[in-house]
Amino acid sequence: MNTHTYVIALDQGTTSSRAVIFDEQARIVAMKSYEFEQIYPQPGWVEHDPMAILNSQTDALREVVRISGVPVENIAAIGITNQRETTLVWDKKTGKPVYNAIVWQCRRTAPIVKRLCDEGLEEHIRNVTGLVPDAYFSGTKLKWILDQFDLYERAEAGELCFGTVDTFLAWNLCEGRPHVTDATNASRTMLFDIHKNEWDETLLKALNIPRAILPKVVDTSGVVGVLDAEILGREIPVAALAGDQHAALFGQGCYEPGMMKNTYGTGCFLLMNTGDQPAKSENGLVTTIGWRLNGKCTYALEGSVFIGGAVIQWLRDELKVIERASETETIARSLKDNGGVYMVPTFTGLGAPYWDMYSRGMIIGLTRGTGRAHIVRAALEAIAYQSADLVFAMASDCGQNPVELRVDGGASANQFLIQFQSDILNCRVIRPSVIETTALGAALLAGLAVGVWKDIDEIRSIWNLDLSLEPSMSEEERNRVLSGWHKAVERSKKWLETDNG
Ligand code: ADP
Repeated sequence: MNTHTYVIALDQGTTSSRAVIFDEQARIVAMKSYEFEQIYPQPGWVEHDPMAILNSQTDALREVVRISGVPVENIAAIGITNQRETTLVWDKKTGKPVYNAIVWQCRRTAPIVKRLCDEGLEEHIRNVTGLVPDAYFSGTKLKWILDQFDLYERAEAGELCFGTVDTFLAWNLCEGRPHVTDATNASRTMLFDIHKNEWDETLLKALNIPRAILPKVVDTSGVVGVLDAEILGREIPVAALAGDQHAALFGQGCYEPGMMKNTYGTGCFLLMNTGDQPAKSENGLVTTIGWRLNGKCTYALEGSVFIGGAVIQWLRDELKVIERASETETIARSLKDNGGVYMVPTFTGLGAPYWDMYSRGMIIGLTRGTGRAHIVRAALEAIAYQSADLVFAMASDCGQNPVELRVDGGASANQFLIQFQSDILNCRVIRPSVIETTALGAALLAGLAVGVWKDIDEIRSIWNLDLSLEPSMSEEERNRVLSGWHKAVERSKKWLETDNG
């Protein structure tokens, strides 16, 4: 008889829906994912079919249980983690979405954001929501849907539900159809007061959003309902909701202030735990809720690198100097140093802490001796330099030097990259044994809610590392390469002179 206990994470991402089963040692037992279609109705617009999200996620859940052979009775809980900010509205009676999901990447509501700023709300948005006003967040996407289909009366009458993907999944997967979101997802709507932990009246008024359409905001770890018995043949508590980056911060075990993680994917996402007080950034970082447990928030600072692993895809698909991403490690190691070559991959402008949308990419420091290996190495180093700039910004915002960075994501497989990261930050870099940290975080949060793990101390004790790297660069060398990078960044700024080049 199988006496083990299991927890399932549903990791609903931008391009795929994944289900992962973990055992009580937080080891992966089985994993299944399904991709779904990206819809681009116009330049700059991105949508998903809500039913494709739901069906791919339900299929992944059913299939992972089937392939694992884990008895359904032994599954103690399910945690949901999700692509953030993506916005849905559906009919409360029929469950039918009124429109496609508007994806976080979608830029269609930039004019609404501009109007809010013109009305003088920029400071208010920064102070209350912790965010930089942007079309990225859910609030203006919700307004767009209400405007487009003239839904204000129906919303006011309580006939409609708004939700991010966590809300939509909980509503569809649970018996009794709970209309809930957790504090991390709420903190990405640009409608939520992260200090008071409630929807912000000023922003609701400014966007004319009726309260009746909003979900109830709950803890990140806590039972929100039970899985509809029709899905797996048994009711199972759905016991966590968390935005993907927040789940990853939790899955990386960053439970103390000052601890931080970087996810090296297409872009990079760096989050630092700042404890029970939200830190206000002077460097263009975003303040967000890390998680909410028993009504108490742990806050985080967040920054992102637009072009992370994407620069390696560019070497492969556009420059065609490599065939596979993994080759870059050996190529970079074939040189003793960067030979003075720097790449600034600002293909879409410079983000935090510089914020120069007119910067464009460049490679500088070329000599007659520069070869393919220098370009490849400069690209890898650029991922680390951009991440380091975020760490330096966080350190200056909270007056604390970094002691350790925890890493995950596809490009964290590259040991040259993460050693170089450790060298230029002058801090330890740790890679966990489970790199599916987003799913792990959701599973841990769900298991915590139903008693699979008693408390954070117990979770800490099962957290395993795969690799720990110490910095090995001299201070002189570090200062030299960092000053080279910063000089290169300066040269890349304001390359475009107008929005059209
Ligand atoms: P996402 O979740 O954003 O799709 P992943 O976490 O799957 O991204 O990581 C894929 C990214 O990592 C790609 O951009 C790829 O170029 C990069 N990558 C994968 N393996 C390596 C490697 N060994 N070295 C450098 N970059 C890599």
